[in-house]
Amino acid sequence: MHILVVEDEKKVASFIKRGLEAANYTVDVEYDGETGLQRLLDADYDLVILDVMLPKLDGLSVMKQIRQRQVKVPVLLLTARVSTADKVLGLDLGADDYLTKPFAFEELLARVRALLRRGATALPAVLAVADLRLDPVTREVSRGAKRIDLTPKEYALLEYFLRRRDQVLSRAMIAQHVWGVNYDTFTNVIDVYVNYLRKKIDGEFDLKLIHTIRGVGYVLREEPGSA
Ligand code: CA
Repeated sequence: MHILVVEDEKKVASFIKRGLEAANYTVDVEYDGETGLQRLLDADYDLVILDVMLPKLDGLSVMKQIRQRQVKVPVLLLTARVSTADKVLGLDLGADDYLTKPFAFEELLARVRALLRRGATALPAVLAVADLRLDPVTREVSRGAKRIDLTPKEYALLEYFLRRRDQVLSRAMIAQHVWGVNYDTFTNVIDVYVNYLRKKIDGEFDLKLIHTIRGVGYVLREEPGSA
């Protein structure tokens, strides 16, 4: 799961980032509203934690703009003060939840989990293609009757492939979604990890599921007879 934090107070931002990373989320941070908005329009996040008081563009304006452009990402707003007017305005503009600073990290985490669960209700509980199955709740992966053990990064990569099955994913998309970094700083790490994953999920099976699209990236799809 890929989360964007837009928060100009560096200490708060890094506190949130470290805590969420410890809970196994991929986290990007931006420190002003303009850059945060750009990120939300460019990339595909599962959740945004958005401070209301931000330089360049405030959080409510960021939210208004993403909703106008049909970006459906769940929004958790952070505010320094308890203001009913702000809260009502925020919810009217399409925030999914609200948290007043200062807050305990555990409370933030509980709300993040609830929002991600809610966002995921429309998705099938188990992700599958051919005889490959991934259960996001138990984090178990199997092909046919064979249980497959994956490292956390391999798991995140496979989950992303499964949620975008039949869709060609560029290395830049994979880098941003799974590692939360820009591809140009990232060289061949993606290829290395895709190959690790391939060995585990395709290696000994006749039907290969991960395919290389030369010059573009990778796709996970059922393609009988191809290598
Ligand atoms: Ca602020």
